[in-house]
Amino acid sequence: MSARAERAAVAAPEVRLPAREAVERALAELERRLGPSKVDTTEAARNGHAVDESEAVGRVPDAVVYAIDTNDVALTLTIAEKHGVPITPRAGGTGRTGGAVPVAGGIVLATNTMGKILEIDRANLVAVVQPGLVTADLHAAVEAEGLFYPPDPNSLKTCMIGGNVAENAGGPRAFKYGVTREYVLGLEACLMGGRVLRTGKRTIKGVTGYDVTALLVGSEGTLAVFTEATLRLVPKPPEVATVLALFDAVRAAADAVARIVAAGLVPRCIELMDGASLGAIRAQGVAVDPRANAMLLIEVDGDGAAVMDDALERLGAALTEGGKTIDVVAAQDASQRARLWEARRQLSPATRKLAKYKLSEDIVVPRTRLVDLLVAVDRIGEETGVRHLTYGHAGDGNLHVNFLWNDEGERPAVDRAIEGLMRATIQLGGTLSGEHGIGVTKAAYLPLEQSPDLIALQQDLKRVFDPSGLLNPGKIFPTGHGSC
Ligand SMILES: Cc1cc2nc3c(=O)[nH]c(=O)nc-3n(C[C@H](O)[C@H](O)[C@H](O)COP(=O)(O)OP(=O)(O)OC[C@H]3O[C@@H](n4cnc5c(N)ncnc54)[C@H](O)[C@@H]3O)c2cc1C
Repeated sequence: MSARAERAAVAAPEVRLPAREAVERALAELERRLGPSKVDTTEAARNGHAVDESEAVGRVPDAVVYAIDTNDVALTLTIAEKHGVPITPRAGGTGRTGGAVPVAGGIVLATNTMGKILEIDRANLVAVVQPGLVTADLHAAVEAEGLFYPPDPNSLKTCMIGGNVAENAGGPRAFKYGVTREYVLGLEACLMGGRVLRTGKRTIKGVTGYDVTALLVGSEGTLAVFTEATLRLVPKPPEVATVLALFDAVRAAADAVARIVAAGLVPRCIELMDGASLGAIRAQGVAVDPRANAMLLIEVDGDGAAVMDDALERLGAALTEGGKTIDVVAAQDASQRARLWEARRQLSPATRKLAKYKLSEDIVVPRTRLVDLLVAVDRIGEETGVRHLTYGHAGDGNLHVNFLWNDEGERPAVDRAIEGLMRATIQLGGTLSGEHGIGVTKAAYLPLEQSPDLIALQQDLKRVFDPSGLLNPGKIFPTGHGSC
């Protein structure tokens, strides 16, 4: 069985499927107007575009369209609307909640074929890019100019700006710099039916009309397909230091996070790993002190040696206060820093190897409730008997709780564990997703957090953009299958 086949499955939602003849007419018109090289109906392409990095199960699409410019996107949306065929936009396919998984078949609109940097404007600190640009490639390009694009999802070598904008991606550096939304000034967006809009601005200030850009950021491919993004840049911080702190217990690490914040320190990242996560890293051959049951990976940046020395001294004091810290180590050079981060970025694939099935949740609580959340996760694990491990962006209160199991018979217990986690998160004043979105896998839980009126208002908005409901159907909103 392949690794993907061994993943836990989250059933496809109930959605309207297109008529066979409508699909055939749409594909014939697409081939005629875009050219056959952009319309791929091979089994390999269709299967490859039926999944992402989540457990969501979709319906294999009828075709994949590879767009190379705005005209291709607009034309595809025109033809799909005309024939009543659903469209699922896609960039890197690294999504964690099934956003790019087509649940009604139809067409996957691939935008990874639009990966150009159109402009880097140093004087105005702006970059204009296409949606298929790999996030790490944007980092490298702007950093070569002494500039910085802070959003850094851990998937940065494979995810793309279009997907980052659609999911409002975060990442470790969000603690200091915020998430993707803070860096999107404007968008070129194509609507179902083929209308092309330019939203937003390329200036820092600007309050003309409704903030449609903000609405589109995080819309999970359900309102429009992005063909261009105008992004805000900042100067590249001259100095960066990475510190690793080991603790005997995860609660001691969470207490240290609270002390860092209370001390007024603003590291750019505060990443937490619990004991089971350290076990996964050790299994990958990374040497971690055997006494450690939790780790914080902290990164500080700033301007000038004096500022950095002061920040590191205060950080060291906050980490060691309380007497439960086993060790605090600062990376000595860039390659040591890179190795520490590589270990962190490998955590997700490493945890996948620990059990046959894994479900990863992405919840957020107010920072001050982090310890309460960790207590709740332990309680849920004990009550359901489901093995779990937790890591994530502790500085933001955003943790990835992973449930692991080997036997399909354990699935009902896992479902109870997930629902328990969602309910505990809401009770602690938190939210169901920090950065991965709702997609398919979390749609059933939306009513736990949002009122029927708020959900209905968002569905009304969706109808304004997409009256026929053909753009990425079955996402975000509960469709009836097992909704909470
Ligand atoms: C190992 C790993 C680590 C990760 N770490 C993080 C992390 O630290 N932080 C974080 O935020 N996420 C993380 N993710 C999740 C994922 O990488 C992000 O959600 C990312 O933003 C998805 O980008 P993508 O290009 O892969 O998008 P896809 O998966 O292709 O699509 C995601 C969504 O965007 C929509 N979309 C794609 N392209 C367009 C477009 N051109 N126009 C409109 N909508 C579009 C799709 O329809 C879908 O709803 C991680 C994933 C993995 C596998």
